[in-house]
Amino acid sequence: MTPKEILFSYWNYPSFKTPQEEIISSVLNGKDTLAILPTGGGKSLCYQIPSIIFEGLTLVISPLIALMKDQVQNLQSKGISTAYITSELDLNTIGKILDDCQNNKIKLLYVSPERLQSRLFIERLKQIKISLLAVDEAHCVSEWGHDFRPAYHRISRLKTILPKVPILALTATATEKIQHEIIQKLELENPAVFNSSLKRENLSYNVFLSSDKKKDLIYYLKKYPGPSIIFVRNRKLTYEISNFLSQNGFDTDYFHAKLTKDEKEQKQQDWTLSNTRIMVSTNAFGMGIDKPNVRTVFHIDLPQGIEAYYQEVGRAGRDEQEASGIYLYNPDDRIQAENIFKANLPSQQDFVKISNCLFSQLQLAEGELTEMNYQLDIPKFVEKFGLNLKMVLQFLEFLNTKEIIQQKNYSQNSTLQILVSPHTINLNENKIFDYLQRHYPGIYTYNKEISESKMAFDLHMSISDIRNSLHDYHKNGTINYSDRFLARFRFLVPRDSTAFKNKLWKDFESIQVNNWKRLQAMAYYAEQNTICRERLLFGYFNQKSDENCGKCDICQAKTHSKNFNSNDLIDYLKEGSKTQAEILSKFINSPKDKIVEELQYLIDEMRVQPIGFDSYKLIE
Ligand code: ADP
Ligand code: MG
Repeated sequence: MTPKEILFSYWNYPSFKTPQEEIISSVLNGKDTLAILPTGGGKSLCYQIPSIIFEGLTLVISPLIALMKDQVQNLQSKGISTAYITSELDLNTIGKILDDCQNNKIKLLYVSPERLQSRLFIERLKQIKISLLAVDEAHCVSEWGHDFRPAYHRISRLKTILPKVPILALTATATEKIQHEIIQKLELENPAVFNSSLKRENLSYNVFLSSDKKKDLIYYLKKYPGPSIIFVRNRKLTYEISNFLSQNGFDTDYFHAKLTKDEKEQKQQDWTLSNTRIMVSTNAFGMGIDKPNVRTVFHIDLPQGIEAYYQEVGRAGRDEQEASGIYLYNPDDRIQAENIFKANLPSQQDFVKISNCLFSQLQLAEGELTEMNYQLDIPKFVEKFGLNLKMVLQFLEFLNTKEIIQQKNYSQNSTLQILVSPHTINLNENKIFDYLQRHYPGIYTYNKEISESKMAFDLHMSISDIRNSLHDYHKNGTINYSDRFLARFRFLVPRDSTAFKNKLWKDFESIQVNNWKRLQAMAYYAEQNTICRERLLFGYFNQKSDENCGKCDICQAKTHSKNFNSNDLIDYLKEGSKTQAEILSKFINSPKDKIVEELQYLIDEMRVQPIGFDSYKLIE
């Protein structure tokens, strides 16, 4: 079958989107290929279709475990033999899947990049005939990117065992610098590069000045009804905004990284099925979620950078119907973002101090390297040396990316399983077990993700008391507890204090400088009000264009200010006094700033009189 026939018979799609066909043919010709297609552009098909044609296995590296499962189920339902391997599977199951790959029973295998650290896995790969290596979300290989995943650096090591296998790298966004980095780090040989337009015809990018974000959210959510995502800065705001909107009659939910896996799955599923729900979330939400009918994506805090912003807004309008990205911006946003950035930024002195404290805590001498697996209780460590928790976490993450340490089982959440049978515990006397059993069904059979902070809150105990008790139970074999506050790692290079003062500090600093620049670029995007938003966004990714989009707030303001004037307002106020909300919803198709400006003008001209707090009356 030709790619086109496969597209029709398996997916029932009549034609390719550009440039899917060219990418597929490049891959089928055995060329290394870099494909940059916008979110929703149809990247997956670019390796799924070749996988059906190729004789051997297509190995897909993907950073998103949740997404893997969906894709695998979906492909299996089409009769394409597909599997995935994640750390959740036990060794037996993994072994069986790899047997199936070796016997050519599986065409497509999804794995997380961390899997490449397993020597066993690499050994097994050598025995499997592999036809294509697809690297999804390839920008994760870039240290300059916003989603850096150190394990992506291991992909190039596959080259030595799979020297002739073509690589297809896929990503939605890559500045020129990041494209070079992908090519270099994945060691793509003379690759064909497809850089399709970032343009999404149905999507508009807007920045609206807002001095009362909650009120404005209500206004815009009414103006653009339908499923929506609201991105906020932190966990606390997800509850706060979600509650506020729900009190105002909206169907809302919240989401953040610290929810347990079960909670996340439930929330994602409910949201995907709903036609009204508004999800208030940190940036943990939505990557790879294929919900077609999202109408708006809001930001109410300064996004981390333009790459992240473009990707987040890209989750709207996958059904090709009109959709908008709306940033409710306030000049304070920049100051706040800068302050948060600086507050968690270690100085060179802090950086060196943390390294010294770490080595002294672990009793590792200069030049020494051990095979030991270390455990570091981060809260205790921070307290003992008077350090800043966020800085220490950042520091360890940095060491991990630089492959100075190798972190094990790094996870956002602790996990726990009760190992004894229920009737051996007196639940009346043991409130911790009572709590665990009631809040985490299945905890006697499976390792469940738990939240110590929620437990502490509900049981009126301190987090450290909870952790201490759980560690005691773990030691006496009653439970199996993996504590997320306990960093587990081993060193990969000997202690070198000079490096921490010089080279490593410089590397760390340049990453921070880069993050700072990214934040500034985003602030500039929001603050400027003359250049078409879309042109500015695409210019950042080196797609220069002379055409204005005609849809963003800036382009709209140019057309609507011609069409809307004070007379319209005066005519409306002739009906009687009106509240600001009434006025805004009457002229819902005109820019809000413009209406407020006209209103202010009429007040200054003594044509309109404010009454009470929020109403306006015509002076006749
Ligand atoms: P990306 O990974 O680029 O964000 P996906 O591969 O998840 O995008 O595809 C997004 C959606 O577009 C999927 O629902 C997919 O089935 C659909 N799609 C892909 N190619 C085509 C095509 N040629 N015609 C119609 N729909 C397509
Ligand atoms: Mg994708």
